[in-house]
Amino acid sequence: MIDLRSDTVTKPSPGMRKAIAEADVGDDVLDGDPTVRKLEAKTAELLGAEAALFFPTGTMANEVAIWCLGKPGTELFVHEDAHIVDREKAGAAALAGMQPRLIRGAPRATLETFKAAVRAPSGYLPRASLLCLENTHNSGGGIVTPADELHAIADAGRKLGLHVLLDGARLWNASAASGTPLSAFASCADATMVSFSKGLGAPVGAALAGSKTLMFEAHEARRRFGGGMRQSGVLAAGCLYGIEHNLGRLKDDHAAAKAFAAIVSEAKTATVTTPETNIVMITVPSGTDPATVEREAGKRGVAVSLWDTTRVRAVTHLDVSMEDVVRAATILRDLFSGAKS
Ligand SMILES: *Cc1c(COP(=O)(O)O)cnc(C)c1O
Repeated sequence: MIDLRSDTVTKPSPGMRKAIAEADVGDDVLDGDPTVRKLEAKTAELLGAEAALFFPTGTMANEVAIWCLGKPGTELFVHEDAHIVDREKAGAAALAGMQPRLIRGAPRATLETFKAAVRAPSGYLPRASLLCLENTHNSGGGIVTPADELHAIADAGRKLGLHVLLDGARLWNASAASGTPLSAFASCADATMVSFSKGLGAPVGAALAGSKTLMFEAHEARRRFGGGMRQSGVLAAGCLYGIEHNLGRLKDDHAAAKAFAAIVSEAKTATVTTPETNIVMITVPSGTDPATVEREAGKRGVAVSLWDTTRVRAVTHLDVSMEDVVRAATILRDLFSGAKS
């Protein structure tokens, strides 16, 4: 099976497993874990932030950031397709007491669509306290919001008194694709989340970066959310290994995604996004059910993920070669063209 469901399906490589096995560890809740400290310092440096905090998942990091930056009984601006509103089990509502105010319009938030979501202040309407941005934007097909545009949106939010959270689960990919340093993206936000278990190939881990004051509050909230971890250096070691060995190869995933999209789009019946990074969204032929496409592709040896009512998603990653990806694309093209396998 060529598994293109997500870049989270990668297995730790022998080198990463060795780094994990040999990690220097402590008790991160009691008095600190040296490998976690090292990862947090490295992440803060890469993102140009004062400090960073290690988390088991990106979702917990996002939700802690929302909890710290938002105010209960207010709204957070977020794109209608964003992970925070679509894939985190209504965490902002359940945990932080906030409701989303959706930024509408495919494929991602822009200055115009953000401004269109803002309503004139009124005694009736809820106030907003937070703006959440996502880069790369997963549901739009791993697309990059350029740093200057990201700053323009964030600045417009700040003028309204909003804090800004950047969901940068795949900020690594945005940086690799655009040649923009990570810090130039992260500087738009009060807090930036990055994930180590996507393109970097670590089994577990994410981080939040921001000011020391905010990270102090986030540390407290992480414990409250059940995210205080003990010998977490075994996890952080995998993340450090991913930064050292896999950050530089993300462009290979991007090249594979481009090749994949070019081949699948030869089937004129499907609409394929032109990938900027490692995600390809495929709108299945009209009259076809994406669940059927997912099942049929699986039978032919390609795993894609069912995304919504019209789309399936394919993601390239370090455990699939260019050869695998080309083979998978050819299988999907033939499937969409109605050819028998
Ligand atoms: C994967 C992802 C997250 C975090 O996911 P976890 O599975 O909780 O680590 C957050 N935002 C985006 C855009 C993601 O793709």
